[in-house]
Amino acid sequence: MSERPRLTVLSGPSGVGKSTVVAHMRKEHPEVWLSVSATTRKPRPGERHGVQYFFVTDEEMDKLIANGELLEWAEFAGNRYGTPRAAVLERLERGEPVLLEIDLQGARLVRESMPEAQLVFLAPPSWDELVRRLTGRGTEAADVIERRLAAARVELAAESEFDTTLVNTSVEDVARELLALMNVV
Ligand code: ADP
Ligand code: 5GP
Repeated sequence: MSERPRLTVLSGPSGVGKSTVVAHMRKEHPEVWLSVSATTRKPRPGERHGVQYFFVTDEEMDKLIANGELLEWAEFAGNRYGTPRAAVLERLERGEPVLLEIDLQGARLVRESMPEAQLVFLAPPSWDELVRRLTGRGTEAADVIERRLAAARVELAAESEFDTTLVNTSVEDVARELLALMNVV
């Protein structure tokens, strides 16, 4: 395997713990750069523009897509999400490790356009635990949770398309495994 930092994509069903794992990892290793996506979703309490996401209007998202400014984009549970292309390419050119936290459709698009990317799937210990985490987070209304659980069934069925699966039982363990996959430690 090449030692050169490359693009790593982390995907997995909503509520599995992707943001939690990435936040834990970056607390210890702030040098790991996470792409900030654009989204038409409304901010959750505590989320800030330019930190978790660039929160954009539908019209702004239309423009980003039309101008070719997104490396990939997808509609997920009623909102659009996309990865700004320039920031990712700049860092890869500088030889810095890059992490994308995106959905299954986005992961498939990245695999097509950048076959050298490594695709990592974050899986829940069980379906019941996934439901508990998504519901327990308390950030979505019941109908939104239903849409996300429907998407989760599709995402879980696609696990074998990924290069590696990590099961999120322990946040610390998964963060360590992810760092190793990214050649950071
Ligand atoms: P995602 O980013 O995949 O949608 P989050 O990171 O928001 O998921 O996590 C969803 C919920 O699950 C949060 O309340 C979080 O605290 C909890 N969680 C994440 N990882 C674990 C874990 N390993 N064990 C128990 N709870 C977890
Ligand atoms: P959330 O609304 O919970 O923050 O994210 C919902 C889903 O959208 C998650 O699976 C997350 O990984 C995905 N997502 C976030 N940013 C992007 C992106 O830029 N592109 C794609 N395809 N999916 C994204």
